[in-house]
Amino acid sequence: MTARVLDGKATAAALREEIASEVSRWTDAGGPVPTLAAVLVGEDPASQIYVRSKERACGKVGMASRLIRRPAETTTDELLQLLADLNADSQINGILVQLPLPSGIDSQRVLDAVSPLKDVDAFAPENVGLLVQGRPRYLPCTPHGIMQILARYEFDLVGEHVVIVGRSNIVGKPLANMLLQRDIGFGAKMANATVTVCHSQSRDLAAITRTADVLVAAAGRPRLITADMVKMGAVVVDVGMNRSEDKLVGDVDYQAVSEVAAAITPVPGGIGPLTIAMLLRNTLTACKHQNA
Ligand code: NAD
Repeated sequence: MTARVLDGKATAAALREEIASEVSRWTDAGGPVPTLAAVLVGEDPASQIYVRSKERACGKVGMASRLIRRPAETTTDELLQLLADLNADSQINGILVQLPLPSGIDSQRVLDAVSPLKDVDAFAPENVGLLVQGRPRYLPCTPHGIMQILARYEFDLVGEHVVIVGRSNIVGKPLANMLLQRDIGFGAKMANATVTVCHSQSRDLAAITRTADVLVAAAGRPRLITADMVKMGAVVVDVGMNRSEDKLVGDVDYQAVSEVAAAITPVPGGIGPLTIAMLLRNTLTACKHQNA
């Protein structure tokens, strides 16, 4: 079997087109231009690239962005003040704090200071709680991207066994919550899955992953998932983005697993582009909520 490649770049482009039309309908009707503020602290090269691509993506769909740079020596209190200002600024609809923050800063306090109404990453406890209860305000970007690509390739998740490797607050846990819902809305409806979440302490990982109809790898371990861990005909989603010998590699042994799986997302060009598209979606939603 040679797996069908699920094209995240093309799916993200289609999503961006839909968002762009919605933005122009909104502004034509007199709505303000949705605006995202990105807070970048320090000089981390990868963070600079990520923030720049988020800004570019805003421009492509007719949204505005405001990049706020602060030096690595900025204190937690100074960032809390900055966030209070952004929370109060009616021209800003969404706020993202680019992670990781420099080591001297209390990241949790800073993230907690983003208003839940402007929390387009959906990290705030209030937004996590709403998602768990099945009435999300914003959907977390990477898990939402995964749901969108599966929906757009018409995989029916109802009753399927989805195994997620990784239990982070950014990917594994929110994805599990979304997959359990009957309907998460936002056009990615086909949830209702049976979900197993594995982590670094799970015993006999391979025995669990082999039972997956859909296997999601989000562990941050290069090529952790080998062909013998995948059921014949499974759908494999590789969220991993790991630097190895100056190349970007996923958590899945792509070549070997492609011989076993029915479908697979590549790295790069899989889930990465979808994450940014879903950030744009949340910024538009935020703008509409704030100007209803
Ligand atoms: P994390 O380090 O916060 O969490 C990793 C999780 O994997 C942990 O729960 C850990 O228990 C589990 N894990 C680690 N080693 C394991 C093993 N050997 N067996 C089973 N479980 C194991 O990471 P994260 O932030 O969730 O990110 C995971 C990966 O996804 C990283 O490579 C990251 O770069 C990537 N990522 C990609 C996107 C994207 O847009 N494509 C977005 C977020 C994260």
